[in-house]
Amino acid sequence: MMEEFDVIIVGGGPAGLQCAREFSGSALRVLLLEKQEGFGDKLCGGGLTTKALDVLPLPDHIIEQKILRTFIHSRRRKAGTVTSVPALFTVDRRVLGAYQRSLLDGTAVEVRTNSQVVEIRDKSVVLKDGTAYGFSYLVGADGYSSMVRRHLGLKVKKKLIGFQYSIPVKQEYPALEINMDARRFSVWYAWIFPHGDTIAVGCCCDPRKADPQKIKAGFHDWLNDRKIDPGDARLESYPIAYDYRGVKFDNTFLVGEAAGLASGFTGEGVYQSLVSGQEVARMILDPMHKADKLDQVLKYNRILERVMALFRWAGPLRGALQEFLVILMNKEWLRKKVNAQFSR
Ligand SMILES: Cc1cc2nc3c(=O)[nH]c(=O)nc-3n(C[C@H](O)[C@H](O)[C@H](O)COP(=O)(O)OP(=O)(O)OC[C@H]3O[C@@H](n4cnc5c(N)ncnc54)[C@H](O)[C@@H]3O)c2cc1C
Repeated sequence: MMEEFDVIIVGGGPAGLQCAREFSGSALRVLLLEKQEGFGDKLCGGGLTTKALDVLPLPDHIIEQKILRTFIHSRRRKAGTVTSVPALFTVDRRVLGAYQRSLLDGTAVEVRTNSQVVEIRDKSVVLKDGTAYGFSYLVGADGYSSMVRRHLGLKVKKKLIGFQYSIPVKQEYPALEINMDARRFSVWYAWIFPHGDTIAVGCCCDPRKADPQKIKAGFHDWLNDRKIDPGDARLESYPIAYDYRGVKFDNTFLVGEAAGLASGFTGEGVYQSLVSGQEVARMILDPMHKADKLDQVLKYNRILERVMALFRWAGPLRGALQEFLVILMNKEWLRKKVNAQFSR
C-alpha cells in the first residue's frame, strides 16, 4: 500500500528545510525528499545578509566569517565602509544544510535522502526506485531545475548564469568586495566573499542580455588585473532562476528558486528561499495566513530589479553611472541607506 502524507516537500535546500521546520510542531504528517545523500551541496557564494539571519538565526559555529569591511570598486574608484555590526555573514552551504537538517531531529517530520522524485502524478510522487508516496499538498523546493515547476508547466525564462571559483587563501581575507566594471560585467559585478580558508570569487549575468562567454573572458581578465590566481581551483557554473510566477497553484506550492525567487541582479537567493519556505508552510497550516514576509521579499527583489534596470537603461553611460555610484557610496548617508536594504 502507498504511504500517505499530508505534505510532501521535494528538495532539502534552504527553502525545503525551512518549510519542513515550520511544520515540525504541527499535527500534519510531513515528508521531505532529498535526492542527494546530504544537504547543501550547491554552488553558492555562501553570503547571507542580516535579513536571512533574522529568519534563520545561526549560532556562531555555523558562521565562517562576519564581514565588517566592504569595498565597492568601479573601474577607476573605490569606496570602503567599515561597520560596527556585520554587513554580511558567510557560511559553508554544506554546514548550513547539516544545521538546518539537525533542527528537524526529534520532530515528527520525516526526512528521506537518496530519494529523487522522478514523476509527479495527480496526488502522488514517484521516486527513482519506483516507491510512490501520496500527498494532500505538494511543495516544490527543488531549486533551479525544479521538476514540480515543470509539472505545473512553468518554464524558467528569466535566469542568470553564475560562475565561481573557491580559492584557498593562506590567511583570512579581510573584506567583502563588489567589483563593477561595465566593460567586463555589463550591469552585473564580480564578487569576493571571504570564507575561513577560502574566498568565493565569482560573477553572473543574464544570458538573454549579455553573452556569458564574453562575461567569463572579462572575469578572467579582471582576475588577472586583480592578481588573483585561481591555481588548481575549478571554475564552476550554475543557473539562478528569477522568473517568479507565484507560490500557490491549487494544492501545489513552489518555494525558493523553484518559484524563481532569487534576485536577477545580485543572484542572492537564500534569504528569499528561507522566507518563502516558511511562509508557504504557514499558508498550508492556515489558509487565511497573510504572507506579509513574502510580500517583503517580492518588494526587495523589485528594488534590486530597478537598480539593474537603471544600469541597463544607462547603456553606454553605464560605466560613468558606476563611477558616480562609487562617488556617492563614499557618502555616509547613502551607505546607511544601502546597508538598511540588506538588513531589516
Ligand atoms: C555562483 C552562485 C553563487 C551564489 N551565491 C549566493 C550567495 O552568496 N547568497 C545567496 O543568498 N544566494 C546565492 N546564490 C543563490 C542560491 O544558491 C540559491 O538561490 C539557493 O540555493 C536556492 O535555495 P533553494 O532551497 O530554493 O534551492 P537549492 O539550494 O537548489 O536546493 C534544492 C534541493 O532540491 C534537491 N532536489 C532537486 N531536484 C530534486 C528531486 N527531483 N527530488 C528530490 N530532491 C531534489 C536538490 O538536491 C537540492 O538539495 C548563488 C548561486 C550561484 C549559482
